[in-house]
Parts: sequence; structure tokens; C-alpha cells
Amino acid sequence: MIKLNLIAALLFCVTLASCQTPTTTTTTSTTNSKKIMETSYNKTDEEWKKTLTPEQYEVLRKKGTERPHTSALNDNFDAGTYVCAGCGTELFTSTQKFDGHCGWPSFDNDIGGGDRVKKIKDLSLGMARTEIVCAKCGGHLGHIFDDGPTQTGQRYCVNGLSLNFKKLDKDSTQKK
Ligand SMILES: [Zn+2]
Repeated sequence: MIKLNLIAALLFCVTLASCQTPTTTTTTSTTNSKKIMETSYNKTDEEWKKTLTPEQYEVLRKKGTERPHTSALNDNFDAGTYVCAGCGTELFTSTQKFDGHCGWPSFDNDIGGGDRVKKIKDLSLGMARTEIVCAKCGGHLGHIFDDGPTQTGQRYCVNGLSLNFKKLDKDSTQKK
């Protein structure tokens, strides 16, 4: 009887041990894939739709263009930072903004000297233009032209829907 009990106890231990091994492995791989999701912006269309308004989605993810003179940011010249509406990356400062008289918020440079705003050749609509997108999430911002009136000679023509504005005083308390 004692022998049988011992064998049963041993078997029980072995079963427990073999059960634990795969559980640990699964937990580790789930944590890893979660980390990848948080640092890359390979969101699906459905996921983007949950975090953006339909208008923002159309511009940022479908390369749409908002109607000119419709963005409240056109006439905003308060001191602060313009961040990507898709991922929150700081893209432009109020000191880089100027009145482009074109109907869209205009900037003569971007924060980070090209690290945050990516330029892509765009031959759509029968024109040779340069599209600008957020380097982090790939969100469409607008186009860049070389007819800017300031020293840089550049005019970043940006959809107001692609941007959120953070006023200077708010910005200093909300840093990550
Ligand atoms: Zn972004």
C-alpha cells in the first residue's frame, strides 16, 4: 500500500511539473508580442477608427485633404506645440508657423530636422509633389513646397485635422 501511495505521489509531482512548463512559455511570449504592439504603429484600420474621428481617419489614414479654410488651427498663433493627431508625436512649434494664406496651417520647418516628419515623392493627381507623413505612425500630414516666404524657403502645408495643438503652459506640465 505504501509503495503504491509513493508512486501515486511521484506521478502527481511529474504531472504538475510538466503542466507548469508550457504555461510559463505562453506567458512570456504574450508579454513580448504586447510590447511589440505598443512600440510600433502597425494598427489595423479598425483600430485606427476607434481612436480617430471619421474626419481625422480620412486625412491621416486615407491621405484625404480637408477643405481649405476649415481648420481652427489656421488662425491659431498662440505659443505652443503641434502634435500628430494619430500618435501624439511633437511635430511643429508655434514659432515655425506662419500665415500661408493658402487655407491650411503652414510651417517653415519641423521639430527634429526631418526625424519626425518623413518626406515621400507623390505623383498622384498628375502632379509631382512631396507628401509629408508622421515618421512614427505614418499618418498623412499634407505636402511640402519650396515656395516658403521665410529663411528656410519651405512651406509645410498641413491638414489641421492631422494635428492637435498643445498650448505652451499645458505642454510644460504634460511632458511624458
Ligand atoms: Zn503620428
